[in-house]
Amino acid sequence: MENTSWRGSSTEVVRHLFSRATQLRGPNRRRDLSEDYIFVRLGLCRAIGWQRAFDCPIVWEEQVRIDQRELWFHLPSLKLENEEMDPEFYRSCVEFRIGEGLTNMGVPEAEHPSAIEKFFQVADAAVSTKLPISVSVWDATVRIGGGLVPAAKSSIDALEEVRLDDGLEFESSPCAICLEDFVDGRITRLPCAHFYHLHCIVQCLEINHLCPLCRYPMPTVNGPN
Ligand SMILES: [Zn+2]
Ligand SMILES: [Zn+2]
Repeated sequence: MENTSWRGSSTEVVRHLFSRATQLRGPNRRRDLSEDYIFVRLGLCRAIGWQRAFDCPIVWEEQVRIDQRELWFHLPSLKLENEEMDPEFYRSCVEFRIGEGLTNMGVPEAEHPSAIEKFFQVADAAVSTKLPISVSVWDATVRIGGGLVPAAKSSIDALEEVRLDDGLEFESSPCAICLEDFVDGRITRLPCAHFYHLHCIVQCLEINHLCPLCRYPMPTVNGPN
């Protein structure tokens, strides 16, 4: 999974790896461990997306979790609040176990430092073990340019804003375009019932008229709609 890129006729395809770490919303407990332990999920995910040009936002069309590993760490030791534990020693153990999990999933070693650094950033900010930490390594393939048709401006203007508290059934997955949760920001729903941040989907529809997740076609200027 080295960085590779190759040119097609009108489209360039770029493949690259990147890591993300976030604190999840749902609680996760294990009865045989004390409440001081935090659940950490390592994931290897594959994403396929497209982009009009290098400096444009990436629209993810497909996101699949290929593999995952589950780890539990003692949060006070991790956050250097446990006086009985040598903090350097505990953190090096944590580093080793995350590296081991990544290796088992086939993540190249070159990506380990970035994933581990992002994990520690989230762990340092974590105030409670109630919210698990997710560390994901993404194997992303992005198609750049080539044959994209924007949606009609009238259909973009007609997008309605929806609210999280309207009792709507949100999928637990994040906004497929920016990969961020729906906690903040204005949200809209396409006719196919897929949710996005309003500013994310507007940027996309101005480039391509298809729903990034299901390819539902929004009206185009020259289209039948
Ligand atoms: Zn978004
Ligand atoms: Zn859709």
